[in-house]
Amino acid sequence: LSGDKENLSNTDKDIERALRPLSFEDFTGQDKILENLRIFVQAARQRGDALDHVLLHGPPGLGKTTLSNIIANELGSGIKITSGPVLDKPSDLAGLLTNLQEHDVLFIDEIHRLNPIVEEYLYSAMEDYKIDIMLDSGPNARSIQIGLNPFTLIGATTRAGMLTSPLRARFGINARLEYYDAQLLSSILKRSASILGTPLEEDAAFEIARRSRGTPRIANNLLRRTRDFAQVKGNGRITVAIAEMALQALDVDQNGLDEMDNRILSTIIQKFKGGPVGLSTIATACGEEADTIEEVYEPFLIQEGYIKRTSRGREVTEKAFRHLGILPRHRSGE
Ligand code: ADP
Repeated sequence: LSGDKENLSNTDKDIERALRPLSFEDFTGQDKILENLRIFVQAARQRGDALDHVLLHGPPGLGKTTLSNIIANELGSGIKITSGPVLDKPSDLAGLLTNLQEHDVLFIDEIHRLNPIVEEYLYSAMEDYKIDIMLDSGPNARSIQIGLNPFTLIGATTRAGMLTSPLRARFGINARLEYYDAQLLSSILKRSASILGTPLEEDAAFEIARRSRGTPRIANNLLRRTRDFAQVKGNGRITVAIAEMALQALDVDQNGLDEMDNRILSTIIQKFKGGPVGLSTIATACGEEADTIEEVYEPFLIQEGYIKRTSRGREVTEKAFRHLGILPRHRSGE
């Protein structure tokens, strides 16, 4: 439920694809970003230029990949999709770049995880639409420069802070996606339910929405699982009672925190007296990767006011103590 793409079954992947909005029109929320993108796309089209390179950042599941596909659609261009860790060496990137048609989009997910040599190779491609290619090897080795079709690079990252400044500087458009409020998630859920042909009652939609960690991917995942409950335990209709039952079975609590969220909070409270404690110490104690905690769990826990980052590490707030029904009596300095 954490918003992972990897642990979806094939059917779930097919459903995820079916639920993906394809145009600006279908995309809900992120109004400010959409408003600007519409203008940049239209202007580029009118001038007959490639759209400037775009950097999209924000937590997983908020729509970075979706938006990239939409941008390509709206440009009337093709899109090639890859990710930072997959591009091992410059020749991997060269292969992709030389196959781009004029004004195509190259989408690089997790762009903060690019190998530095590949990253450097990207600079001239982004700046001048040119790359150097090595011919031969050994004593005959020489490089030639070849021109590329003008293209748009869209980079997505959960960690904008980990981008090098030369790379960041080469993006003309920079957008940070925000968590969605329950109202927006509720309309996304209603759209998804109608695509799936599942009746979804208004209050049930809202209940799932407000417990989806502000994240469309999680909302859609919960909808699929709730649909299963409605089918097996009910008459196929998602009522608020069915939604409550499913959310409870999936360990999503009343405030929408999942099992790992709660494990993180109770670990900090019970093992480290509420903090401050370092990220890697929390990670070891929770049995989760430090990166995952930092990219997936922590941003939401901070935004909802359960955790604060201090210079000495992470600290839970009063809200976290209250949430877990524990009195904050062991704390010092407050
Ligand atoms: P990211 O690339 O940021 O991890 P994705 O673009 O893969 O996120 O989005 C995850 C899923 O959530 C998509 O399959 C899509 O169906 C849904 N989704 C994301 N944003 C929206 C939105 N604004 N409106 C409707 N559905 C959305």
